[in-house]
Amino acid sequence: MNCLWCDRQIIPEINWENIFMLAKPKSLCGECEGKLEYLQGSRCKKCSRLSEEAVCLDCKWWNEHAERDSIAFNYSIFNYNSFMQDMIAKWKYRGDYVLGTAFKLDLFQVFSKRFAFLKNEALLVPIPLSEERLRERGFNQAKMLAEFLPLPCEELLTRIHGEKQSKKTRTARISTNNPFKLTKTVNKSVILVDDIYTTGTTLRHAGSLLKAHGCPEVYAFTLIRG
Ligand SMILES: [Zn+2]
Ligand SMILES: [Zn+2]
Repeated sequence: MNCLWCDRQIIPEINWENIFMLAKPKSLCGECEGKLEYLQGSRCKKCSRLSEEAVCLDCKWWNEHAERDSIAFNYSIFNYNSFMQDMIAKWKYRGDYVLGTAFKLDLFQVFSKRFAFLKNEALLVPIPLSEERLRERGFNQAKMLAEFLPLPCEELLTRIHGEKQSKKTRTARISTNNPFKLTKTVNKSVILVDDIYTTGTTLRHAGSLLKAHGCPEVYAFTLIRG
């Protein structure tokens, strides 16, 4: 198989460490794989930002505004370095759907370890795109990532998009700042899935909506910490 990024042939290196792994073919060559940067070292336990503090300043702010901090924690895998930015651009904005499979194994392994404490009693909910974006891109990258994970995935959220204020119902006006709508209530824990955590605002909007409708706990799992 060829590298999904640089298209060079991947020649599996056989040694005692990986001989048992040969059944799982790699989707990136060693050189490209080496450019992906795992988040390593101490990180904020709430948002995964690399930080010497147990809880970073941003998350302290969210904590002080408790009614808005609807996310128990976010866990991310990779740093948003320039290689990752290029990969995301090609995958998400230039429609290279298959490139996303390069993240499958890492997602699965990290998720299985980090969220084992939920004992499979949770639901994955991908952050939705608006219909317009979905048409443009052809797929929702968050949904693709969620489908790599070993828990049921349900699209409980939709994105409210481009409506005129006057046509909105009262409920819609109240939730004007929240870009999401819930299609169904849920009574078990939810793990929101998205490709990137940047400010955390999007995830918190989704989280507060879920919690306002009876969801006991909301976590987030993201590929990248921006
Ligand atoms: Zn490569
Ligand atoms: Zn933080």
